[in-house]
Amino acid sequence: MSIQLKLVHLRKKIRANKKKVTDAISANHSAEICIICGSHEQLTKEHVIPQWVYNRCTKRTFETTTNGISQTYNKTTLPACKDCNSNLLGLLERHLKHEFERIDVRHQEYSQETLELVILWLETLEYKFQILDLRRNFNKIKGTDYIPHIGKMPISMFL
Ligand SMILES: [Zn+2]
Repeated sequence: MSIQLKLVHLRKKIRANKKKVTDAISANHSAEICIICGSHEQLTKEHVIPQWVYNRCTKRTFETTTNGISQTYNKTTLPACKDCNSNLLGLLERHLKHEFERIDVRHQEYSQETLELVILWLETLEYKFQILDLRRNFNKIKGTDYIPHIGKMPISMFL
């Protein structure tokens, strides 16, 4: 299957299961469910931002705007089944990593095909961040009191 066809497949899966996944996570924000296909089998940890994005970055954290707490990328994972993680998301990310390394943007331009894949990839990242917000705990914000029962609620309830 070509990378383009695989991507169409990935998008269809996300679209078909988005409601099921968000409903399950809204009901229980630590629900173990594949964020792509909604499966409960063979779950793995999918990094929201792939590790190679950080290869040239010494600061292995990023700021979230939801509660202003920085978080380490390697702890920022979402559940995805083995198949979706390695055969769909993994395949796309490996392909893009290769393109990013192969093309020096100072001298060359990305092909139309690669640009389209980058856009699709960014859409997938946006979806992952939406799910991440649904799952993130409303943890203590610096300088405030911690209220245990609120700490168990997903941040999205407050937005
Ligand atoms: Zn899956």
